[in-house]
Amino acid sequence: MGEKEKAASGVPTAEELALIGRYTRRELAPEEVYTFPVLLCDNEIDREGERFSIPALEKLADLFVGKTGIFDHEAKGRNQTARIYRCQVVREEGRRTAAGEVYHALRAEAYMLRGPGTEELIREIDGGIKKEVSVGCAVAAARCSICGADRRKAPCSHRPGERYEGKLCHVILEEPTDAYEWSFVAIPAQPGAGVTKGFGAESPALALEKAASLGEGVSLSAIEARELARWAGELQAAAEEAALAEIVYAN
Ligand SMILES: [Zn+2]
Repeated sequence: MGEKEKAASGVPTAEELALIGRYTRRELAPEEVYTFPVLLCDNEIDREGERFSIPALEKLADLFVGKTGIFDHEAKGRNQTARIYRCQVVREEGRRTAAGEVYHALRAEAYMLRGPGTEELIREIDGGIKKEVSVGCAVAAARCSICGADRRKAPCSHRPGERYEGKLCHVILEEPTDAYEWSFVAIPAQPGAGVTKGFGAESPALALEKAASLGEGVSLSAIEARELARWAGELQAAAEEAALAEIVYAN
């Protein structure tokens, strides 16, 4: 079997199996394992006007190794998880981002166990149906591309999406401090890479609990705040719907 066919079928090489072996309790046979590539995020400006800096991507490459991913939020506990065993920043010479940088992407390789519970998923990944992922991570700084202000600590008057002397204002996410998890989602939040950030991969409640347990103040990025507001809205709508159903039922 050639290297390309091997990659296509997701059977790990001996080297990959050794990397995967760091996370398993026993040695696995190659045919027990399915490996696949995942594009986690990149340095392109997303539709929320944010992007990761290249050093941030390099840091995330370290942070995401060993992190688990889930396939849909209801699947938790059904053994449908995958784990990243290798992660690197890939530079695409000749492709430029909207900010004028050389395009860089964070490309991970993940594995999962083959079995009755994952057969369908493997088919969907092979068939290209499941390919967009979102990532959950924490960053220490979110800088304005025009003036360099950290927008969480000292918000400036520049607006992402607007141009200042010809330069497109956006927010540069820097200094990642943690990577939580990654997950396949239905709607990509970032054109091209299909990436969302912040609360993308975990429930806002869980993220808040995590932050609160550190005993420090909780600061939210614009994305996180929006995500939380959206979540609160959904809860309210669900509650109203339930109340309405009760009234209908009572009548
Ligand atoms: Zn600014």
